[in-house]
Amino acid sequence: MLVVKIGGGAGLDHDCIADDIAELVRAGRPLVVVHGGSALTNEVATQLGHPPEFVTSVSGYTSRRTDRRTLEIFQMVYCGQVNKGWVERFQRRGVNAVGLSGMDGRIWEGRRKDAIKIVKDGRRVVLRDDYTGKVERVNAGLLRALLGEGVLPVLTPPAVSTKGDAINVDGDRAAAMTAAALGADTLVILANVPGLLERFPNESTLIGAIPRADLDRFMPVAQDRMKKKLLGASEALAGGVRRVIFADGRVERPVARALAGEGTVIGG
Ligand code: ADP
Repeated sequence: MLVVKIGGGAGLDHDCIADDIAELVRAGRPLVVVHGGSALTNEVATQLGHPPEFVTSVSGYTSRRTDRRTLEIFQMVYCGQVNKGWVERFQRRGVNAVGLSGMDGRIWEGRRKDAIKIVKDGRRVVLRDDYTGKVERVNAGLLRALLGEGVLPVLTPPAVSTKGDAINVDGDRAAAMTAAALGADTLVILANVPGLLERFPNESTLIGAIPRADLDRFMPVAQDRMKKKLLGASEALAGGVRRVIFADGRVERPVARALAGEGTVIGG
């Protein structure tokens, strides 16, 4: 079992990614796709007059401020244009994809955070109207049923809270929980960088491999968004996934190359 997370940053080669995944599916590889949509969401939110805002938690992680209006825009983009874009790319290649959010069928369920503690202008502030949370349970039965029908699940945030609200969750960590719940061997995370860089943005400083026991030591290397990817990787490994590979989503055959060892291989 393989889970592929496709980043939502700018610069990924969508056709190369779809070609590669379609080939793996045709070869009979059980596979689930998870995708993001952050860059397009930022663009659309700005066009709609509700520009994106990012907050930094007291523990140093960055996330999207998700008030109700942001959540609506987020859903338009992630569940609408981006999710259906991926489904169309797969259908064009003869792969019967089904696009679902984590809310559908309660595929991703977790608690909504009542309050998030952030740092703003050097001061601690508590946000209470944020629609965010973390995936705690995965409806693996539904995913297995879909796979059993020969369809390719294509999943995207939001998740659903225990009370039934849509909640924005981190896509990398949701992919990690999904890989763990399905007993996946490998999680491939494609982004617009070749992997974890020792000195970002210098691409010649790619870290090729991180043994499982050394993961904590590499945490300080990652800035902003990369931090959560590393957290997701450690959660996937803790959940029984053998290896997590951060790989370049801008190249030809990106998944096959990752599986052959290109990028940053964590665990393994
Ligand atoms: P996605 O939207 O694909 O999930 P992000 O764009 O949020 O991913 O995260 C990847 C980004 O993390 C890179 O584009 C880069 O700007 C940033 N980053 C920060 N530190 C590092 C690092 N050490 N190595 C690689 N990328 C890094």
